[in-house]
Amino acid sequence: MLTAAELNVADLSLSAWTWIDSTPDGLVAFMLITPASGERRDLRQVAVAAGLATPELPLPAPGILVALADADALVLLPNASGAIRVPSASEWADFVRRGGVITLLIGARPLDAGAGLVGVDEYLMRAVLSRQIWLGKTTLAAEYSAKQCRGEACIVCGHSDPPLAPAGHAYTPTPGAPLGWAIAAHPDCLGSES
Ligand SMILES: [Zn+2]
Repeated sequence: MLTAAELNVADLSLSAWTWIDSTPDGLVAFMLITPASGERRDLRQVAVAAGLATPELPLPAPGILVALADADALVLLPNASGAIRVPSASEWADFVRRGGVITLLIGARPLDAGAGLVGVDEYLMRAVLSRQIWLGKTTLAAEYSAKQCRGEACIVCGHSDPPLAPAGHAYTPTPGAPLGWAIAAHPDCLGSES
């Protein structure tokens, strides 16, 4: 049986959506990731190993790393190898760059990548009722080492042995605007083809 530690999430065929919505705690940047239709593996193990929780539990912050790489968000889950690349709208990226809270939702069941607002709403309602969804929150401002901020160490594993390739930007909080850093990663750590 596949365990999440052996599972390279970059090998999975996934669908993803991002949107911003108001919640009792203010505006939140949501990101939903599900298996794409036709992907037979479900994401339960990945979500549970990453420390996400079902909706009736308090929303955890298990250390999900999100970096912005051009128009995409790179999502790194605890205890899973590889990065999930999620196309994100510029408003979404701007909001999280300013320190906005990201709530990641991982659904067990497939949803077609073409699903619109109504399809996503229906999916979420059904997934919450059947507890087939796991949630966790994060922001772009994760704790990185100085070497990781300077792009001299891999943003995923923290090691500095070559080869390192550019992996977009990470942000750390400052009293003013968040500070952007050009980060790097091992192609293998991102699960991309080298
Ligand atoms: Zn690495």
